[in-house]
Amino acid sequence: MTRWRDLYCGEVRPDDVGRTVAVAGWVARRRDHGGLVFIDLRDHSGVVQLVVNPERAAEAAKIAHDIRSEFVLRARGEVVARAPEAVNPALATGAIELQVDELEIVARSEPLPFQLDDDGVEEPLRLRYRYLDLRRDRMQRNVRLSATVISAIRSSMEEQGFIDVWTPTMTLGTPEGARDFLVPVRLQPGKFFALAQSPQLFKQVFMIGGLDRYYQIATCWRDEDLRADRQFEFRQLDLELAFPTREDVLDVLERVVVASFEALGRTPPPRPFPRLAYADAMLRYGSDKPDLRFELEIQDATEPTRGSEFGVFANAECVRFLVAPTVFSRAQLQRLEEFAKEWGAKGLAYLVVDESGEVRSPIAKFLSERELEAFAAPHGSTVLFAADTPAKVERILGALRLQLGEELGLVDTTRDEFLWVLDFPLFELDEETGEWTFVHHPFTGPLEGHEDLIESDPGNALSNAYDLVWNGWELGSGSIRIHRQDVQARVFRAMGMTEDEAQTKFGWFLEALRMGTPPHGGFALGLDRFLALLAGESNIREVIAFPKTAGGSDPLTGAPTPIPDRVLAELGIALKPEAGTGR
Ligand code: ASP
Repeated sequence: MTRWRDLYCGEVRPDDVGRTVAVAGWVARRRDHGGLVFIDLRDHSGVVQLVVNPERAAEAAKIAHDIRSEFVLRARGEVVARAPEAVNPALATGAIELQVDELEIVARSEPLPFQLDDDGVEEPLRLRYRYLDLRRDRMQRNVRLSATVISAIRSSMEEQGFIDVWTPTMTLGTPEGARDFLVPVRLQPGKFFALAQSPQLFKQVFMIGGLDRYYQIATCWRDEDLRADRQFEFRQLDLELAFPTREDVLDVLERVVVASFEALGRTPPPRPFPRLAYADAMLRYGSDKPDLRFELEIQDATEPTRGSEFGVFANAECVRFLVAPTVFSRAQLQRLEEFAKEWGAKGLAYLVVDESGEVRSPIAKFLSERELEAFAAPHGSTVLFAADTPAKVERILGALRLQLGEELGLVDTTRDEFLWVLDFPLFELDEETGEWTFVHHPFTGPLEGHEDLIESDPGNALSNAYDLVWNGWELGSGSIRIHRQDVQARVFRAMGMTEDEAQTKFGWFLEALRMGTPPHGGFALGLDRFLALLAGESNIREVIAFPKTAGGSDPLTGAPTPIPDRVLAELGIALKPEAGTGR
């Protein structure tokens, strides 16, 4: 046999009948029947059935004796049509088989730690043997889909005039709201690089450097607790433009999304994507990343409940409600109350409007006509209230809305709802320090006309930041930046940073801003999230070849591991005994 293969396993077709071809792949299954050996040979393209007949190929039949699952084989033989009763219409190759003339065991396999067709394998085992997991259809599909989309993203960016420029991994910390991963430097003991949480400042400096349309598929490192949509290291489509309007930036991203859908042969979402102000998103959905695949909007009842006889309403800064399209039982309401309490509610007031329109509620007797009118709900529904500070009400009803959407099957999973959330606040109060801190990052520009609020009313200053949301997932954020050094210094100051601190942390950047900085703005699209959603997965680990577990380890290699003292000493590092090195 000279050529490895003429065809992939899944490519053998009825038109090949009569041809002699070579295929190579893994043994998915072997069966012995009537003196013949049947082998399903698999690769990423599909499966083809080999038939080893001792009367046709005595040597191959001898070899076939030894063959077990997941051996790697190479086979040459004639493509023949299967007998009509043996045709398998479920397989692309189900009408044909390969009558083997030559067979070679290229590599043997030990019995595997799990069956590749078992869908119930636990994740730690899948990750420990990721190379086996990758052989499975799901991972093959996800990894290949990812490659198709990344290629489409690159093409779209380049068609739009962006150039791919690399930025350093090891750098000075960039604040993106997480802890830095640190890299000790042997040549300068006691000093550390931070792994870039994003290329943020470098891309801004590109604009100062005249590279007016930059992009990169950048790896970013953030030390934070891992979740379904978070890994220590992740990829983002990072981009920046000089002289853009906000609409220019959004347009670039919409084109990228459309190109990605088209690359997968799917109908893209209609453009322009809807836009919603942050304040409206919080009011109507209790979330800055609302899932718009179902309606169920939050309604405000603060005004009609002023002076209510129901003290909980009268005394709350804010009263809002949801109307669930069902009549909940007492037990269900109790469960929902528990749920609301987990999100900070003190209780869950409700009105049940039964099928005949009769209202059942322990609080109804306290409510005025005006209030009842304000809460009007159709027959066969339940009104659920939250009464507290606006922030708490948003959090409680936002969570309840999602819970009800799922529980009541309101989410239309056939829909793809993209959305821009705009006009985020510039600052928020840091719960630990009580100081104003940034919402996105400290380089986000204030909305036009809001510059003066930086000092006078920071809590009400809006920013020119925007998030892209898809079906309730935040896909990424961006902003029009601060391009004036004086405004940047004022923002640092508003966040309680002294002149000295600002110099130490960002002096190099403040200096750059003084040397002819064009207005600029950009965005970063979380690639792993985008790919996971395109692949129909709810966890980004399914689109990352070698992800970390939720506990932050890599079960394949066993990393992270302790480091010998001698290596640490070279770096000028000594571990405290309680560091738990596991040695
Ligand atoms: N640097 C931001 C991030 O990584 C994105 C941006 O503002 O462009 O989330």
